Amino acid sequence: MPGPGWYWIGEEEKREVLDVMESGHLVRYGKLDDPGFKQKTRLFEKEFAEYNGARHALATASGATALVAAMKAMGLRPGDEVIVPGYGFVATYSAAVFLGVVPVLAEIGDDLNLDPEDIERRLTPKTKAIVPIHMLGNPCNMAAIMAVADKHGLPVLEDVCQATGGTYHGSKLGTIGLAGVFSFNAFKVITAGDGGMIVTDSAELHERAFSMHDQGYHPFEGAKQPAVRNELGLKLCMTELTAAVGRAQLRKLDQILSTLRRKKAKLKEAIGPIPGARFRTLNDPEGECATLCTVLFDRADVAARVASLLETRTVDNTGWHVYDRMDHFMRYLKEQGRPAGQGTLPRTDDILGRSINLSVGVVDGGLGAAFGININSTDAEIERAAEQFRNACARTANVA
Ligand SMILES: *Cc1c(COP(=O)(O)O)cnc(C)c1O
Repeated sequence: MPGPGWYWIGEEEKREVLDVMESGHLVRYGKLDDPGFKQKTRLFEKEFAEYNGARHALATASGATALVAAMKAMGLRPGDEVIVPGYGFVATYSAAVFLGVVPVLAEIGDDLNLDPEDIERRLTPKTKAIVPIHMLGNPCNMAAIMAVADKHGLPVLEDVCQATGGTYHGSKLGTIGLAGVFSFNAFKVITAGDGGMIVTDSAELHERAFSMHDQGYHPFEGAKQPAVRNELGLKLCMTELTAAVGRAQLRKLDQILSTLRRKKAKLKEAIGPIPGARFRTLNDPEGECATLCTVLFDRADVAARVASLLETRTVDNTGWHVYDRMDHFMRYLKEQGRPAGQGTLPRTDDILGRSINLSVGVVDGGLGAAFGININSTDAEIERAAEQFRNACARTANVA
């Protein structure tokens, strides 16, 4: 039960991968004038940068490793703090923790994204960056977030892992802050099995991220130049096979997004107004990815009952995504002498406890989106899902 890109894997991906297999050249490095070297990673980076309107792109093994490389490249150091929303994904928090950087939790708003107004309350002299997460394909309120960031001279790292291809008033997500980080795991908008990407306009950040992603090397496009090393790094590279799939998926991205937006509009229309509930706030309804449809109920007990009738769960019960459900992360915060556990973010607790995610393109029980439609759903299936949802709401309203 994966993301929309997975549903559309087909001949195009197969051809791209075969191209690599027939060449026998599986690693991103090689001689650019060697016709046997298909340069899939280099091309994927180039095409991804172009698609997003960014100067640089760096392919990585995953979204998590892209986050580590980007945070390292931003110069974040042990003891630094970054502001993150209390609703996200485990990878964002872990990436910081592995660099010794403390993720400082902030509240979300009715868009289920980082609340710009809560950021300032969390700032300390140790704050070194803001990391908004475009959750569930919905762009954050970037105008307000950038205003706070600029006021305090803080860089912004956008976590775009759930929102590849999304835009915020004309700008591609990931290009508004200093850098953006993407994921191509199975549950994302497009997938290559796994894989990630960093985009940025900063040559310096790109260079440092490149070094981090492969043992300190300066960026280069052809064969390795082992003598030129910047600093310590790790090995976080993408292989040619992953990049091959990624390229084929990227070519499908616009059609994936337009299909999801069309189907989501149908679903919302078929659901119609629900007494005691509304859809979450979208900061750019045309630019959101439409991978999910989030409904906010006025009352948590009603949301819980509707969820159970539909054999799904309210968003507060989605363990990998909600701060207080990530036991290992809470343990870490406690060891740091920081607030942790339920109640740390009362508004986030309240909003998530009243929310249900309906799937549109991302069908993921882990995200609380086991009920809904998928990218291939027919009009009749969309009508049926809407009717089931309406019925569950009506039955609950009678009881409540
Ligand atoms: C998926 C995701 C990531 C990274 O996931 P990987 O599985 O490492 O590619 C990071 N942040 C968010 C918000 C995500 O949803």
